[in-house]
Amino acid sequence: MSQSLNILKTTFGFDGFRGQQQAIIDGLVEGQDALVIMPTGGGKSLCYQIPSLVREGCGIIISPLIALMQDQVDALNELGVRSHYLNSTQTFEQVKQIESALKNNALDLLYIAPERLSQPRTIALLQQCKIALFAIDEAHCVSQWGHDFRVDYLKLGLLSEYFPDIPRIALTATADSRTQHEICEGLQLHKANKYLAGFDRPNICYRIGLKNQPKQQLLRFLSNEHPKSSGIVYCLSRKKTEAIAEWLSEQGFTALPYHAGLSSELRAHHQKRFLREDNIIIVATIAFGMGIDKPDVRFVAHLDLPKSIEAYYQETGRAGRDGEAADAWMVYGLEDVIKLREMLAQTAVTDTNVEYKRVENQKLEAMLGLCEITSCRRHALLHYFGDDAPSSCGNCDMCLQPAETWDGTEAAQKAISCAYRTDQRFGVSHLVDVLRGAATEKINQFNHKELSVYGIGSDFSAQQWRSVYRQLIARGFLTVDFVNYNAVKLNERCRALLKGGETIALRKDPIDKPALRHKSSSNKYHGELWEALKACRSELAVEQGVAPYIIFHDTTLMEMVKFQPQTQLHFGRLTGVGASKKEKYAEIFLAVIKKYSDTGKKSLTETVLETHRLFKENKTIDSIAQLRDLTQTTIYNHASQLIREGQLTLGEVVDADEKTIEIIESCLIEHGLTEMGGQLKPIYEALNEEFDYGLLRCVYMHLVVRLAA
Ligand SMILES: [Zn+2]
Repeated sequence: MSQSLNILKTTFGFDGFRGQQQAIIDGLVEGQDALVIMPTGGGKSLCYQIPSLVREGCGIIISPLIALMQDQVDALNELGVRSHYLNSTQTFEQVKQIESALKNNALDLLYIAPERLSQPRTIALLQQCKIALFAIDEAHCVSQWGHDFRVDYLKLGLLSEYFPDIPRIALTATADSRTQHEICEGLQLHKANKYLAGFDRPNICYRIGLKNQPKQQLLRFLSNEHPKSSGIVYCLSRKKTEAIAEWLSEQGFTALPYHAGLSSELRAHHQKRFLREDNIIIVATIAFGMGIDKPDVRFVAHLDLPKSIEAYYQETGRAGRDGEAADAWMVYGLEDVIKLREMLAQTAVTDTNVEYKRVENQKLEAMLGLCEITSCRRHALLHYFGDDAPSSCGNCDMCLQPAETWDGTEAAQKAISCAYRTDQRFGVSHLVDVLRGAATEKINQFNHKELSVYGIGSDFSAQQWRSVYRQLIARGFLTVDFVNYNAVKLNERCRALLKGGETIALRKDPIDKPALRHKSSSNKYHGELWEALKACRSELAVEQGVAPYIIFHDTTLMEMVKFQPQTQLHFGRLTGVGASKKEKYAEIFLAVIKKYSDTGKKSLTETVLETHRLFKENKTIDSIAQLRDLTQTTIYNHASQLIREGQLTLGEVVDADEKTIEIIESCLIEHGLTEMGGQLKPIYEALNEEFDYGLLRCVYMHLVVRLAA
């Protein structure tokens, strides 16, 4: 086993690498640079944490998210990884201690804010220490065109001069090709291996509906599907976040507002509660979220349309980082588009931002297109980011409940002709007026009553026509020229549609539908054991002053419910249980599981429990089989399950002498069958077919349970 894989298993408790992790880690261990674009939840941090442990010296992680360093460090220390952070919140004494630990090679990982790293003093310190690697997280902050630009990131290129032999890895969740180029330039990563992971987040179910009493829609969504979940609700305005948070609180949810207008103390307090408590809903503007590394966010809801697909993808991407089912839920309306358009329009046009506004408008149109499509949302999202994806994903509203469509060919022809006949100089509103035969000043002014298209669409409402135009724009038949008064222009694609060679199916405006059945079954979050495990986790978290997921992720708790391990050995096999956590928590959680199993025996079926009852009446296997009209093999099978669950002892089941049991046991041990899941055929043969399979199975189960205890 490679050293990296060994660390993955024993320290982090995972069975194997995912996606490109192994290649990235191997490259870094060998001293090569890397640029990693990986979606949230893809396992980015392991890509630098493991090589930091494999390579000699301390791994230096540069992150702009000071507020989150504490949690990252807590999580690592829980795993037994010696880690710390340096930032402006610490006292001089604390800093001195950490620096000396670094110099003495007593740290595996150190998180540093970019503004501190670029100080000459820090560089001088690091030059005296053994450094395993530099990891630059949120690397898109180097992009001067991006929303998250940080000037200190520009200085990070200097690392290549000061530390030419130390490998560097830059990581980010989203970067289009221009941003990737900027990262390589700005951080001097010209020779870096590039790893572009797919953008897909298969566990997120995307749903976009038409806005119709949005508060009630949100309440229905939460009550039906997330009565007890952590989640984020995004709104456009500060005022709205406060109103919605208050209203949700009145409805019995724990909802907290978050926006840039709140005091930094209150923001920090709300963020902390969100991270550290279960079932908190944050109602936020886009000010909330970057770097929020809470794995068990079960839904992200949008009450307003985001400005771009990038923003939508980044915001929804905060759901389900643990890989478990999560929901991205949104309602939108025309008013959203108008509001966003206005916001853009209010930015005074100068020579320098014409280009900016044009790009912003295009992005908004693409976002709108995503809302309007009748095909798979995931396909469209991934296509936008340049990923190939199957045409149907089975986990979005369009796949689960296909939209109703109508033959829009004739309407599309009229809509396009109208744009053409008016010389492609007018925006949607005017075109709709012309089609519907309205008598406006503008129509008079341009003499549009004389056109052949005037009034040919009076059978449709203005809203229907706007829907037709939006869809034609979204699908690339028409474009909107934002520089020239939002004039609608024809694209080459129109030709076939106008000539009648192509037909087009348009979407009917969606009406609010009842909750869909989809993969995000909330059932598995219910049940006594689940609640008991969560309560146990919360208690430990409060005791230690850390977030619950730092103790265990939901994924691990779910596996506890599913497999109900009874022994340390089995507990150690759960995802996310490494050596350190096994030692600290196995007994505590096993006790919870045992209590549940003792009272409920829920993992055993009725028929097994019936067999159990008869065994307790001192009946033999023979007689139970006869009584129940079942084969002996079946009864042996029940018996072995009951032994596994500690409901029966071997002596209560089989009538074999000690010598026989000893012979069988030694043979099992010789063949390495000391854990669950082995094949008994080799044992049967090695023992000259002397004992039947039923007996072998029961002795085997007895041995496994005994050794694991
Ligand atoms: Zn789909």
